Amino acid sequence: MEATTHVTRETLKAGEVLCSYCTARCCRYFAMNIDKPTTWEQFDNMRWYMMHGPFSIFVDGDSWYLLIPGDCQHLQADHRCGTYHTRPQICRDYTTDACEYDNDGVYDQYFETPDQLWEYAHAILPAKPRRAPGDPVSLPVLQMA
Ligand code: SF4
Ligand code: SF4
Repeated sequence: MEATTHVTRETLKAGEVLCSYCTARCCRYFAMNIDKPTTWEQFDNMRWYMMHGPFSIFVDGDSWYLLIPGDCQHLQADHRCGTYHTRPQICRDYTTDACEYDNDGVYDQYFETPDQLWEYAHAILPAKPRRAPGDPVSLPVLQMA
């Protein structure tokens, strides 16, 4: 059987497009930049976000992101865009220069579950203050950076 050669940016031939060798990794999720949590309340809010779906949080340098998996509704079975000529601007602006084509999925930090995030909060924050009976409970508001 002939071995499959993995095409890289370096081995891409003139006139070829990297996307032709990709399973449209960039169309299968979106990530939102979120404020770096520094308090119990912020960690607790993030933990709550994560309880609403298979959401994860990753940290790249000093930037925190909420990762929301999900295929775009226009993604076709052949991994091509089904609305190419009317695709959103964010898709038009995206390039293969630093895309996730060969991303190994390794981040500085990666929290896959709310419990992992909560465990991290316990490791880095001072002891959690107790909530006194009758203290007001505020609902979290998602803050985008
Ligand atoms: S931009 Fe990158 S991740 Fe997106 S389809 Fe093209 S090669 Fe794949
Ligand atoms: S609109 Fe097209 S390019 Fe944009 S995410 Fe959806 S399938 Fe991908």
